[in-house]
This record gives sequence, structure tokens and C-alpha cells, in this order.
Amino acid sequence: MFNQRITDFFKRHNLYDEKMFEYISDHTDYIDYNDPDMRFLIGCAYQYDKRGKRLDRFRLCMPYAVDDRTTLMCIHEIVHGIDFYKHLNKKYKKKKTIEALPLLYEKIFVTENPTPELISFANYLDSRISEDKEDSYKYGISVREQLFNAYDKNYDKISKINERLGKGGKIR
Ligand SMILES: [Zn+2]
Repeated sequence: MFNQRITDFFKRHNLYDEKMFEYISDHTDYIDYNDPDMRFLIGCAYQYDKRGKRLDRFRLCMPYAVDDRTTLMCIHEIVHGIDFYKHLNKKYKKKKTIEALPLLYEKIFVTENPTPELISFANYLDSRISEDKEDSYKYGISVREQLFNAYDKNYDKISKINERLGKGGKIR
């Protein structure tokens, strides 16, 4: 299971559900972030059912959470896990909005733990995105500030706002 600091973070944001977190944790692999050769494994993967429509399974990979930086990366991947979990056995399309909430919760965690070291690490992660070719990251960065300002500890609500923005709509 995830450590206390991580579960407390999600409890604070009304996102903790024991069954869901157990499932996510059972579908997670861990790496040692101190080993640079392993870092490329961090991320998430998901699979569709045979008919290619419904989300069938997913797997996360994250570092062992031993400090602020690794906790930040865990939070990012767990937010992906929450999205996947909520869509299990449901229709799920690859969408450009997929990185926005993980990036939002990263920012929230940094805001709650504003040490110079964590801020500079978060900036480093962001700087890698500006070179990244995947649109979902660029989209996520572009709406993060708006989502952050609209966020009131309600995942479902902010998730809907994210989808709306993704379709070119407004926050309202
Ligand atoms: Zn991500």
C-alpha cells in the first residue's frame, strides 16, 4: 500500500477510497529513483478489451516514495491510476486531456510543500515538457493554472472542467 504521506494527501483532497487505492497499489511496480537506468520505466500503461473499446487493465510504475521529489512523481502516477480505475470496463479514448490532472495535483503538492528543492525539481520536470512532443503534456501545462484556480478539492468537478476545456470550452 502507499505510504501515509501519500494517502494523507489524497484524503485531504477527498480522493481517498480504500478499495480504489488497494486496487491501484496492487497494479503498481516500483523502481529505485537513484538508479538513472531505471527512471525511463516511470509511467503508466493501459489496455483495451478484445473489442478495443473498454478499458480492461492498467499498470503504473513509480519510484519508491522516500522524499519530496519521489512523492511528487508518485502522486502524478496515482492520479493517472485514479482516472483509469474510474474508467475500468468503460469506454475510454486516448485524449489530450490525460496529463492535465496529474500535472494539476503535482502543482497542488508543490504548493503544500514549497521547499526550494521541490520547487526547482518541479520546474525541472516542467522544462522537460516544453521539449516534449506529446500534445497531452503541452495541453496539461497550458490549462494547469486555470484548473488550479478553479479547484476546490472536488476531483469529479475538476475532471469535468478539464474535459470541457479540452473541447475548447470555458471554465464557466
Ligand atoms: Zn503522466
